[in-house]
Amino acid sequence: MIILKLGGSVITKKEAKDPTIDHDNLNRIAEEIGSSSFDKLIIIHGAGSFGHPFARKYFIGSSIKNEDDLNYKKLGFSITQSWVKKLNTIVCESLRENGVLSLSIQPSSFIITKNKRIYSCDLTLIKKYLDLGFVPVIYGDVVLDMDETIKMCVLSGDQIIQYLGENLKPQRVILGSDVDGIYTKNPKKYPDAELIETVTSCEDLSAEGSLNVDVTGGMKGKLRELLDLAEIGVESEILNACRRGFIKRALGHQKGIGTIVKKKTRV
Ligand code: ADP
Repeated sequence: MIILKLGGSVITKKEAKDPTIDHDNLNRIAEEIGSSSFDKLIIIHGAGSFGHPFARKYFIGSSIKNEDDLNYKKLGFSITQSWVKKLNTIVCESLRENGVLSLSIQPSSFIITKNKRIYSCDLTLIKKYLDLGFVPVIYGDVVLDMDETIKMCVLSGDQIIQYLGENLKPQRVILGSDVDGIYTKNPKKYPDAELIETVTSCEDLSAEGSLNVDVTGGMKGKLRELLDLAEIGVESEILNACRRGFIKRALGHQKGIGTIVKKKTRV
């Protein structure tokens, strides 16, 4: 089994004011997936400009102050859920047009969090779909939270990877982003940032400038999820999905295209 994440920064124009698909990237990647062979594949995608601007505007995930605030956030929840679902439909269609038997899985309809971490998530259906040869396509969404003061939060694609990785123990976890891998610091801000081959701890990144804060935590949030996975023996790789052929090479079992995140070997 392979779990493949397509970053919101890859399939959408993340900095766009309105929800905008990056059609060139999406179609090319769908083609690469369609021309690859795999046994079981789960695709997870981020929300990019279809999710973050709304989640931010409506402060989804922050404490509810009063009744008006609750109603405001509920409206934002509904709007965000609707936009990320649209993105998911477009992704599923693009995959299907390229021969991939995509099957949409909506997190807000079956996942509940507790203090923003997945608490309830039944994987029975996903396993059934996989057994039948479907490619489940799950995505960053808004979900209900058990905490009475939060009630609703954003569930990142990265947290979904961590949960699925832990519970399904895939052979490979591949994350396609818009950078070549994990650098010592944010390569978009610091020209002297260096690409790291293998990361085994957050300390491998320089303390300065490695955070790219979006509502789901940016690269540091991503890395934390992947280090959690590495701890239980599930290795992952972050690579640049904007580069032609990289996803296909990774699906073809090539390793070391980007940065590998794995458990520290103790000596
Ligand atoms: P995605 O949407 O692909 O899941 P994010 O946008 O959440 O990814 O995170 C990727 C971004 O993180 C990159 O575009 C980069 O600007 C930023 N970033 C911050 N720190 C680092 C780092 N140390 N190494 C690589 N990228 C970093």
